[in-house]
Amino acid sequence: MSWLDEFDDRLAALDAQALRRRRRAVRPEAGARLNVDDQSLLAFCSNDYLGLANDPALKAAVHAAVEVYGVGAGASPMVSGHSVANAALERELAEAVQLPRALYFYAGYATNASIVPALVGAGDALFSDVLNHACLIDGARLSKAQVQRFAHADLAQLDTLLAASPARRKLVLSDAVFSMDGDVADIPGLLALCERHDALLLLDDAHGFGVLGPQGRGALAAAGITGAAASPRLLYMATLGKALGVAGAFVAGPEVLVEWLLQKARSYTYATAAPALLAEAVRASLRCVLTDEGERRRQQLRARIAQLRDGLAPGADAAVDAAGWALLPSHTAIQPLVIGDNATALAVMARLHEHGLWVPAIRPPTVPAGTARLRIALSAAHRRADVDELLGALRSAARGL
Ligand SMILES: *Cc1c(COP(=O)(O)O)cnc(C)c1O
Repeated sequence: MSWLDEFDDRLAALDAQALRRRRRAVRPEAGARLNVDDQSLLAFCSNDYLGLANDPALKAAVHAAVEVYGVGAGASPMVSGHSVANAALERELAEAVQLPRALYFYAGYATNASIVPALVGAGDALFSDVLNHACLIDGARLSKAQVQRFAHADLAQLDTLLAASPARRKLVLSDAVFSMDGDVADIPGLLALCERHDALLLLDDAHGFGVLGPQGRGALAAAGITGAAASPRLLYMATLGKALGVAGAFVAGPEVLVEWLLQKARSYTYATAAPALLAEAVRASLRCVLTDEGERRRQQLRARIAQLRDGLAPGADAAVDAAGWALLPSHTAIQPLVIGDNATALAVMARLHEHGLWVPAIRPPTVPAGTARLRIALSAAHRRADVDELLGALRSAARGL
């Protein structure tokens, strides 16, 4: 028997463990609603935190860009793919995060998977928070550097590991906002350890850029480590498909490090550049994010976060308390409601679906065993009535347990 004949059994094994993933084809409707199989669902699963993915200003920017640039970039940025639009976007991204220089990539996954191996290699040392996103983990593996994982947000352990490492080149990897927990890294604390141990810090702010900090400039600006206070040992990475509502990513930081990444990050060099129409959409999105309209949307998002947290606070509902469900202590748009076991989390997701709501259940191995959760993602596109609807459905699901 050829090993190729085993794939049927391997898929069946996924089915047996309830780990087979299935996609749904969606079509956006007004507000935060998605049409799925001809059913209209109120969605709490999108990372479009500011409701920009369907914004008329972004669409208009795309229409205008298509007339000038056409559709595809045609080549790597190292050849002829680096359009005037992409170049302008890089300057505007650097200005937005108040760092010297930025490099624009076609996707966030590809950014981290290639910048980590461009920075360190065999004989070097990597230090990675256990809750980091898969693309940092994969970048670490590709680099062939020795990887040491530290417990989530455990700076004392990181300090010990850094002190004990004989490696000359040390790189610390951390999400800025953790994607399944919604908490924010202690960025000044991480940076202080990097300074003490001559390490470089790479921060992934996929979930903070556009939302956190003054004018949505991100978690680094929120921590006050930009502009004149920018550090020569910090690289900041963020994605453009979440709060910015488009696609792609960028890395920003000291001129010399960004120039090195331009030379050596393989997903930059050996991939077709992001189309100019996307760069123009991101530029339109940035104009919104950095101005009053962005501020209005961030206020709307903060109001929905407060509304949800009040509605699920201990004492707010007896059935939710009795079920033992608890929100993690997050103040970001990611509001995880920990349910506990996998079957209950799936059952609650199914009950919400019957109410016309789409809230994803996240199970191990994506999160630690026993902490299966609903990952409630809030957006400025949600109305007060939308969150009330979610709270009502959750309370009814808790009573039905
Ligand atoms: C979504 C995400 C990425 C990947 O970005 P894409 O542009 O979607 O490829 C990277 N890091 C984190 C923390 C993310 O949540």
